[in-house]
Amino acid sequence: MIIAIDGPAGAGKSTVAKILAKRLGFLYIDTGAMYRALTLKVLENNIPVNDELQINELAKKVKIDLRNNPDGSLTVLLDGQDVSLEIRKARITQFVSDIAKIKDVRQVLVKMQRELGKRGDCVLDGRDIGTVVFPDAARKFFIDATSNVRVQRRFKELKDLNQNIAVLDVEKDLSNRDKIDSTREISPLCKAKDAIYIDTTELSIEQVVDKLLRFIKNG
Ligand code: C5P
Repeated sequence: MIIAIDGPAGAGKSTVAKILAKRLGFLYIDTGAMYRALTLKVLENNIPVNDELQINELAKKVKIDLRNNPDGSLTVLLDGQDVSLEIRKARITQFVSDIAKIKDVRQVLVKMQRELGKRGDCVLDGRDIGTVVFPDAARKFFIDATSNVRVQRRFKELKDLNQNIAVLDVEKDLSNRDKIDSTREISPLCKAKDAIYIDTTELSIEQVVDKLLRFIKNG
């Protein structure tokens, strides 16, 4: 069974998807982490983020893999190297949406995501899972929250990762990424027609997980 969770940055998708996957005994596939890993590779190779030709070549060669650990955490491997923490840094977040809007990049990563989806029952989170990657997913959710709440959540998440960043910068980053992600030509962020919309503004993580579990169990 494939469960698709889409939504804007900071809505709590990855936290919820991770817990949900663990509860159900499903694999968790963080597709944003894959775009982040490619962005890291681009920066490591000093390729300008607007050099589509070189980025496309790199995307075809790079190996990105996701490992679900027994404690529920996720390890992101880039050409065999653990980059799980590195890809959360501001320098990656700053450029990831510019890389993710490139058509050929999306083609390569969507293919990888579909391959990962063959490993078994999965929960995937991203921007285009229910619309493009797995349009036939058994369950689709679109998770949202007001921009204020999303900024606060992302700020706390970064603080927990010991990243020193001002709330104002988090706000700028979210609105910049949401704008690029939802206005890009290829697979823009949008709710699939048959996805269930969940506003998590007033809900705790546990409440969101419970809500999703009810929808999943009751069909
Ligand atoms: O989920 P996360 O915020 O880590 O995603 C980082 C970026 O990767 C997003 O802002 C978006 O530009 C891109 N992304 C995407 N499609 C996905 C997942 C992420 O374009 N399925």
